[in-house]
Amino acid sequence: MSKFTIAIHGGAGTILKSMLTPELEINYNQGLQEALNAGYAILEQQGTSLDAVVEAVKVLENNELFNAGKGAVFTNEGLHEMDASIMDGSNLMAGAVAGVRNIKNPILLAKEVMLHSGHVILCGNGANEFAKTRQIETASDEYLFNQYRYDQWVDIRDSEFYQLDHKEDNLKSFLEKEKKFGTVGAVALDQHGHIAAATSTGGMTNKRYGRIGDSPIPGSGTYANDHTCAISCTGHGEFFIRAVVAYDVSCLMEYKGLTLKEACDIVVKDKLVKMGGEGGLIAIDRLGNYELSFNSEGMYRGVKTSDGYNQVSIYKD
Ligand code: ASP
Repeated sequence: MSKFTIAIHGGAGTILKSMLTPELEINYNQGLQEALNAGYAILEQQGTSLDAVVEAVKVLENNELFNAGKGAVFTNEGLHEMDASIMDGSNLMAGAVAGVRNIKNPILLAKEVMLHSGHVILCGNGANEFAKTRQIETASDEYLFNQYRYDQWVDIRDSEFYQLDHKEDNLKSFLEKEKKFGTVGAVALDQHGHIAAATSTGGMTNKRYGRIGDSPIPGSGTYANDHTCAISCTGHGEFFIRAVVAYDVSCLMEYKGLTLKEACDIVVKDKLVKMGGEGGLIAIDRLGNYELSFNSEGMYRGVKTSDGYNQVSIYKD
């Protein structure tokens, strides 16, 4: 049996132990484990890394603890506009949707875009129209609604601020200390030696309507190339777009011959930090090396390998 591995994230940011109740911590860990198991089961049955990352992300989208699908954050107009993307490292095919509304699992739509649209990115109404032609399941605003995220939005909807994913009475202190990004993502290596990446998000709370983050942009929030690595990012999207984060890691490996770890360290812990770009990423290469790298206080994350290693974590070690 060839080696296989799946890694996932459920967002990075200022996630401190003091901020989560024991019960919430258990729920987050359970949610991460369920997603890992779903992706791992596909890999175990010799399925593709592409199907594994879709399945893992789907489980996280269906869990309202995470900011993707059910439980997605609100725009400045009080709507859910979701972004998602997927990339297949075996052939560099990619598909993405941006600013889609009322789609239950945006990652499934991104996969359809990749396989059946002849395009790479579809946005807004065009993406929703395409969803109808592919029989993609829709979801009502009520289904996507989450009270906690609604309250977060109500707190800042009259301000120019965006990005909080956690409620705090004092807005200033919140913005300085308690930034949290709840995007979800997965990367996997399958038994056929191929890697893939997928990312899905509601974006950032109170984002301007029409704003598109890094998650649906191949090369920024998501990237996969069998010759280098598969990456899914989470963090302040504007920085990740400008730093072309996912592709930068790949380029450092391809053109400079760096290892996965060396490339991730440079991009996440040096380049992004200097720019002020808070967040992290998960990465894997075709040898099964993986990295769960972040420059924030924490990142919901997990990894499960065919060697029997299984771990979910939240805080900095
Ligand atoms: N990167 C996402 C965005 O900017 C946010 C996140 O990671 O939670 O839309």
